[in-house]
Amino acid sequence: MTSFADLPLRADLVGRSPYGAPQLHVPVTLNVNENTHPVPDEVRADILRRVGAALDEVNRYPDREFTALREALARYLGHDLSPAQLWAANGSNEVLQQVFQAFGGPGRTLLTFPPTYSMYPNYALTTGTAVVEGRRDDDFRLSPETVVAEIERTRPDLVVLAAPNNPTGTPVGLDAVRAAYDAFEGVLVVDEAYGEFMPADAPSALTLLPGRPRLAVSRTMSKAFAFAGARLGYLAADPAFIDALRLVRLPYHLSSLTQAAALGALDHAPLMLRMVDEIRTQRDRTAAGLEALGYRVWPSWTNFLLFGGVEDPRALWQGLLDRGVLIRDLAIPGALRVSAGTAEETDLFLDAMTSLTPVGA
Ligand code: PMP
Repeated sequence: MTSFADLPLRADLVGRSPYGAPQLHVPVTLNVNENTHPVPDEVRADILRRVGAALDEVNRYPDREFTALREALARYLGHDLSPAQLWAANGSNEVLQQVFQAFGGPGRTLLTFPPTYSMYPNYALTTGTAVVEGRRDDDFRLSPETVVAEIERTRPDLVVLAAPNNPTGTPVGLDAVRAAYDAFEGVLVVDEAYGEFMPADAPSALTLLPGRPRLAVSRTMSKAFAFAGARLGYLAADPAFIDALRLVRLPYHLSSLTQAAALGALDHAPLMLRMVDEIRTQRDRTAAGLEALGYRVWPSWTNFLLFGGVEDPRALWQGLLDRGVLIRDLAIPGALRVSAGTAEETDLFLDAMTSLTPVGA
């Protein structure tokens, strides 16, 4: 059998492995920070109607500028954003890759702060961008002083801050974002994939966009909107930044079916987001349950938790899987990550954890 290693592969891809969070069919799937609630029935009918209407014209290419969707996204985000400041693609993964295609590349360097979202180095790899790693403060925090010191030390062209961070759940203060922007001349991306799970009074980096043309804030419908399968991520930035992304996007990259489905979901944003509070409640219940079992839980502004004090993460991960519960092992020493699920999923996870945790541990 031929393997890809036998092919005349690009030299910098040799020895690499693809993104591979396991996709297993088990009763409780809490491994990739999805929203485990289904799309509400009231919204489903409208989405189906819109997708049906899009099918009537599916012989034609879609609106390359996805104008109606950009308008809807601007309305949803608020902050006086105009449609000219919005961009979207198939998941924030594609949006972020396009940022790297436009602003990274050979001779340029990304600064990232591990542990963080594992795809950032991957966008760098596939676009020929070099990667340097910055150090965090204690408990995975990122102070303005540390961000600036790491930017001055590594002199990057591109900085990505996941705010709040995945896989730790840690918030990033706007003071750190402001300080990072002022510390270099390159592009700063604040990845707010979990933005809707932040406390209601916590300001978004969207508030910092005016007067900062090198700043971009990315978001996704995959998490709070329970729309991961539809693949719709988006970004807000200066109109000139959006123009730069037009240089690298493939023609008609957002299908008319995706545009129609996303428009339907955005039209019912409050209904689509009604589970956010419930997810936060289950997250906090999960944290309390884990702490009662003697684990250490890091504070989270997201729909997941990182917990530590695990003697053998691989064994615990496998033990949970044997009980039908899939969570995530990200090779952080002594720690595992679990997404917040429904009340029933939380019960099943905590029951499994109780049976796998030695008494007095
Ligand atoms: N950014 C962060 C921080 C994430 O955790 C994820 C998904 N796990 C993404 C971006 C990508 O999400 P999507 O492509 O589904 O929008």
